[in-house]
Amino acid sequence: MPTEQPRGVLIAGRYLTTAIPYVNAVPHIGFALEVAQADALARFYRQQGWHVRLQAGADENSIKNVQAAETAGLSVVDLVERNAARFLALKESLDLSYDDFIRTSADQRHRRGVERLWKACFERGDIYKRAYSGLYCTGCEQFYNAEDLDDGKCPEHGTKPELIEEENWFFRLSRYECTLRDLYVKGATEIVPDARRNEVLSWIEHGLEDFSISRSAARARGWGIPVPGDPEQVIYVWFDALGNYITALGYGSDDGDTLSGGGRRPSRENTSSARVSPVSTRFTGPPCYFLPVCPCRHEFLSTAMSPSRGAR
Ligand SMILES: [Zn+2]
Repeated sequence: MPTEQPRGVLIAGRYLTTAIPYVNAVPHIGFALEVAQADALARFYRQQGWHVRLQAGADENSIKNVQAAETAGLSVVDLVERNAARFLALKESLDLSYDDFIRTSADQRHRRGVERLWKACFERGDIYKRAYSGLYCTGCEQFYNAEDLDDGKCPEHGTKPELIEEENWFFRLSRYECTLRDLYVKGATEIVPDARRNEVLSWIEHGLEDFSISRSAARARGWGIPVPGDPEQVIYVWFDALGNYITALGYGSDDGDTLSGGGRRPSRENTSSARVSPVSTRFTGPPCYFLPVCPCRHEFLSTAMSPSRGAR
């Protein structure tokens, strides 16, 4: 990672994010490690003179939260409210220097951004609906291929997945196979350490398949962000949650559209928004929410590629 000092007016910055944990339970000690490491990195860059934005949050639109609320005899809203407050309280008890904490079920800025992201993908032909049947593990919130199961059971939970048949919306990931390979091979997007880069490349070499990005609203028990134009479906929690890294920067909001605002230069006073140069603020190219470092060179640095599943 580059550590050279920025010169002149601070328009270069570092955007650091933590994973956003499920809030189906209170924080465990393992999560403290991640946030403390992210905080140390943020403080390091600040000391070097960089403008830094350290972003954290809570991943709330998950069926696991619905199940935990049922067990606890609470409404889902109350459960996520209570647990998200415990995660946010780490800021004080661990003396963390978060600049922002986004809640994916409660913050309207997140919902607006995710809806906009969905529509943007839809308009580009990246999203389509089809019938689907698959083996679904509720614990993982994902479908499995039979060959990936361990003696017919989820390799992580040891439980037998349910056979589920329904119509889902799919993201056309197969379309981006070459684009993604090029980004990683040519070094436009960096993944560190090398072992992880190789893992991603090998995953691409095996061929990328389109994947389901919605769930029936009935199966999600009405919890989640409804699919724009299709209220029978809610947006799959991973598609929704990963969007937090850009919705937190204002993607989808009318007045603070940092990523697609057509090149507005941040004012010097507005030090809480990510510093990006005017030419790099357009949100073009493949959807960058899949990537740890954005190909459109927003100078994002992420400490994690995906929301943490640490609180299961
Ligand atoms: Zn599982």
